Amino acid sequence: MRFARSCAYVLSDVGSATGLVGDSTFSPKAHLNRSIAVCIEIMSDVVNQLLMLAHELGREDRQLAILGEGSVSARLEGGLFAVKAGGTGLGALEAGQISICRSDKVLPLLDKRMLTDTAVESALLEARVDSNAPRPGIEAVFHAWLLTVGDVRFVGHCHPLGVCQVLCSPRARDFAEQRMFPGEIVFCGPASVYVPYADPGLPLAWQIRERTRDFMNSQGRVPRLILLQNHGVIALGSTPEAVLASVLMAEKAARIFAGAAAMGGPNFLLPQHVERIAGRLSDPSDKSDRSDRSDPFTFSFS
Ligand SMILES: [Zn+2]
Repeated sequence: MRFARSCAYVLSDVGSATGLVGDSTFSPKAHLNRSIAVCIEIMSDVVNQLLMLAHELGREDRQLAILGEGSVSARLEGGLFAVKAGGTGLGALEAGQISICRSDKVLPLLDKRMLTDTAVESALLEARVDSNAPRPGIEAVFHAWLLTVGDVRFVGHCHPLGVCQVLCSPRARDFAEQRMFPGEIVFCGPASVYVPYADPGLPLAWQIRERTRDFMNSQGRVPRLILLQNHGVIALGSTPEAVLASVLMAEKAARIFAGAAAMGGPNFLLPQHVERIAGRLSDPSDKSDRSDRSDPFTFSFS
C-alpha cells in the first residue's frame, strides 16, 4: 500500500522511543496491523488535504500558478513531511507526485554553506522514505523548515499574477509591511515577512529562515504570509483552508494596491488601526464586531 512504508517508519520510531519495540510482552501482530491501518488512514487524509490545496492553488482561472510553478507541503507525524515533487503542476497534482520525506535529512542542509545544486538534489533523494517516490523539488528545503514553525501544518507557495506585479515593482516592501484594509489583516496578518530576492534553492531557503526568525522576534507572532521579492508568495497555516485564504486575500490586496498606486496611493491604515484588528483576532475575550474576527478559516473548498 502507498503509505505503508512511511507508516512502518513512524511506528518503528514511536516504538523505539517508548521502549515498546523489544518488549516481549508487547507487539502482537494484530495490534501492529491495526496501528499501521490507523497510521495509513491519517497519512492518506493529510495527503488528500494537500492535494485539495494544490488543486485550489493551481486553478487556471485564479492565475496563482501555471505549468510547473508553485509547491505545497504538509507536516506528518514521526518527523516526516509530505511535499510536491519537482517539475509537477499544482492544478492536476496526483498522490503519486507527492514525496514523503524525513525532516532530519533535509533540515541539516540549511546549515551547510557550500553545497552544489546536485548535492542538494541527492540529499533530497536520500530523504525520501520510499526510494520509489519522485524526487522532491528543491523548494522542499524551505518547506521542511517552515513546517517546524509554531502550529504550521500546511505550506503553499505560488506566483500569483497580481502579487508578482507588486513584488517586481519598487513598492514591494511597502506592500509586505503595510496594510490597507481590515480583511487583509484578518487573512494575511498585520504584516508579512519580506524576503529580498535570493537565488531559488539553498540561498532562498537561508533567507526565508533568517527573515522569518527576525519577523517572529520583532512581532511576537508566526507570520501568515511570506513575500519573496521578484518571485512569489508563501502562505503558512494550520489548515489548508487557512493557506488558501491567505493567498487569495494577498492577491486581492495586490490588485487594490496597484489600483490605489495608479491614483497616487495607497493610503495605508495607521499602525493603531492595524493593531486594533490584529489584537481582536488574538483576544478571545473580545466579542465585539465578530464580522472581522470570527474564525476566518472555516469556509470549505468549493
Ligand atoms: Zn517559486
